[in-house]
Formats: sequence, C-alpha cells, structure tokens
Amino acid sequence: MAALGVLKQYAKTSIPSPSLPSSILFAHTETTLTIFDAYPKAMFHFLIMPRLLASMETAKYHNLRTLLQWDRAKAKETILQLQEDAKQVVADIEEEMVRLHGFKWKIWLGFHAVPSMDHLHMHIISSDLCSPSLKNKKHYNSFHPKAGFFLHLDEVLEWFEGDDSYYTTMSQLSASRYEPLLKADLKCWKCSASQKNIPTLKAHLQEEWNKEKRKAVSQKKRKREEEAASSTLDDANAEDNRQKKRQETLDDTPTPAV
Ligand SMILES: [Zn+2]
Ligand SMILES: [Zn+2]
Repeated sequence: MAALGVLKQYAKTSIPSPSLPSSILFAHTETTLTIFDAYPKAMFHFLIMPRLLASMETAKYHNLRTLLQWDRAKAKETILQLQEDAKQVVADIEEEMVRLHGFKWKIWLGFHAVPSMDHLHMHIISSDLCSPSLKNKKHYNSFHPKAGFFLHLDEVLEWFEGDDSYYTTMSQLSASRYEPLLKADLKCWKCSASQKNIPTLKAHLQEEWNKEKRKAVSQKKRKREEEAASSTLDDANAEDNRQKKRQETLDDTPTPAV
C-alpha cells in the first residue's frame, strides 16, 4: 500500500494546528492526532497517534514494538497519553452513536500486534465491525477482540506492571507468533457461532448489531414509560396529600356551638 508511510507524514505536520483536511483529521491535542481510518472496518473507526516533534526520536515511534523495546518509562508515558486523549474521541463517538442510532455500543481501543502501517497508532473502533471495507478473514480477525492479534489498551498497559522478563517477552511482538492468529476460522466474536465465509459473517454481524439496537431502544422506551408512570403516581400522591390536609384543616375547625 502506498499509504504505508502516510501516518508519519501526518504526525510531523505543523504545530500547533495540523494542516490536514477535515476529511482526514478528526481531532488533535498538543501531543496526539486522531484521524479517520481510510478503510474503516466498523461504523466508527479512528486512529490516534503521537505527533512527532522535531526533538523526538522518530524511529522509536515506528510501531508498538520499537516503542516498548526502546524505553519502558517513555513507552508507558506515550501510551498513557494516547489513552488520555482517546477519552474525548470516545465521548464524541458515543454522542454521534446516540444522535444517529438512539443508543451507544462498545468501542474498543487497541493496537495490532503486527501493524500494517508505519508510525505507532492505536485503533479506536466500534464493536459492530459492520463496514463495506471489511472484506476478508485477515481484516476481521485483526479486530476480533478475543483472537489475540488485537491487543487491547488495558492489556498492553498491564505489561508495564509485570517484571522485566515478562515485559521483555511481551515486547517481542514477533510476526511469527501473531500472524498465524489471522488465519483462525471465522467465528462471531459475540456468540462464537462459526461462519462459513465472509458474506455470512457480515450478514451475521449486521443481525447482531440490529438485535443490540432493538434491545437497547426497547429498554430505553420501557425506562421512559416507567419514569412517566412513576411521575404520574407522584402527582396522584401529592394530590391525595393535599386533600388529606384540607380534610384535617376542616376537622380542626371547632364545631360552632349550637
Ligand atoms: Zn493499524
Ligand atoms: Zn453471533
């Protein structure tokens, strides 16, 4: 892909305000950029990456492996910054989910063990995995949340808590260990149902999402109805109390002597 080095170009773009078209750039902070994935594998799919300042050792930010193997403290700091800046992106996505579809669903944050593009980047992807650009087994398995190729942010952050030998082992990220995971049989990540081929998988994922939407929307509706019923009840109670009060006041009025 000609786009292999394009992320690095983006990451070096001018400070403070990156000169990138709005069709590419979604958000930025002083230290990170978030761009639309050019081939989204879900309804919402972004890449967040560290910006490259002149003072930074560019080569160390090549990918997750080079970062982890370089300097444990710097690596942790970089990843925590991605985590921090991803929060706003996630909030924006959730707002858009509710606006467009009336509910919000899970968003995954993580890295590919063996990335297909240079320059460290973390994927921010909605869990539907419904998208025309999801076209083959490799695409799907690279985002399957339990297949092992997609490294969840929390999982990577845990590596920093381990001892040196554990950290060193996890930092290897060797292609020979991870790439075979992309060849796993197609299975729905939600219900584990086996899928014959990509078209059946895609239809199944769409149906899973439709189901999730129906459930969420009807739950919301039920909640609204319950709230409405309980507020009607409150009104009725308040009215009852008012009447009781009036009655008490009447009862207290001394009966005039005849
Ligand atoms: Zn990637
Ligand atoms: Zn399923």
